Amino acid sequence: MSKECLACKSQKNVHWGKATDLEYYSTGEEEFDFYKCSNCGSVFIDPVPEDRLSIIYPENYYSFKPHNESFVQKIKKNLDKKFFGKLLNKIEGDKISVLDIGGGSGWLLDLVKGIDSRVDYTCVVDFDEKAESEARKNGHDYFNGRIEEYETDKKYDFILLLNLIEHVADPKAVMAKVGDLLSDQGLAVIKTPNVDAMDAYIFKGKYWGGYHCPRHWTLFTRESFASMIEDLPIEEENFSYTQGAPFWTFTTLFYLKKWGLISISKERPAVYHPLNGILNGLWAGFDILRSPFGKTSQMFITLKKSN
Ligand SMILES: [Zn+2]
Repeated sequence: MSKECLACKSQKNVHWGKATDLEYYSTGEEEFDFYKCSNCGSVFIDPVPEDRLSIIYPENYYSFKPHNESFVQKIKKNLDKKFFGKLLNKIEGDKISVLDIGGGSGWLLDLVKGIDSRVDYTCVVDFDEKAESEARKNGHDYFNGRIEEYETDKKYDFILLLNLIEHVADPKAVMAKVGDLLSDQGLAVIKTPNVDAMDAYIFKGKYWGGYHCPRHWTLFTRESFASMIEDLPIEEENFSYTQGAPFWTFTTLFYLKKWGLISISKERPAVYHPLNGILNGLWAGFDILRSPFGKTSQMFITLKKSN
């Protein structure tokens, strides 16, 4: 069967790279292939392991767990507050409704609520059953399922898709849904890997952390994302590249393992390696220093309704 780009459906592509799941060892030593679309420039996984969700998202998958607050995470939280505060200030009106797609137990909605007192309704859409009770306890509404199945007449002023769009089989359908759900004055925020980054080109054939293999199914560039939403009623309002420390970290751990300097196994996959914290800190610093000179491996795209 010919391989089809998940973003634009073109069947013209070239082999781009391969990887295994070093982070969780969910699929053992199995290798997954990634292809670069010759039409739009996105990179996609093929075949898509769509029928193995419960394997590739194991019980210990990090977004299913409540975040514990390390020093680095506290810094990150303060940066997030600034970032989201700026965006919320752009939204007019006395009341703001917020939707977090893939938001788990709603930790980000807690943060958003604390930033702007106009936030009067918050809802999570997620297929993690265990997160629902905690989200509801913190005052968020919850739809247990995929965004594609979520039906409502409600419009949202602020929609969050942080590290979500690269995980779905039909990203354009999800963005069409976002277009439907967004209010006229609203903003949607996407955070997703940028495959047009130096580290992606260097490590694509061996192990690039940005694959988050095999859970990242489409890796976009700024341009390929823009072309995917071209005929939808939404458009780019703001854009920025942001640091991709976790990708560097897992790439580094891959090489340390390859060179026999550390051991990573099913018993202790890379996500639990004790070097994670320090590597994340170092690489975040590196990416921030180099950001004026080149594109880093994650991006924030803010969208509004098009006129
Ligand atoms: Zn494409």
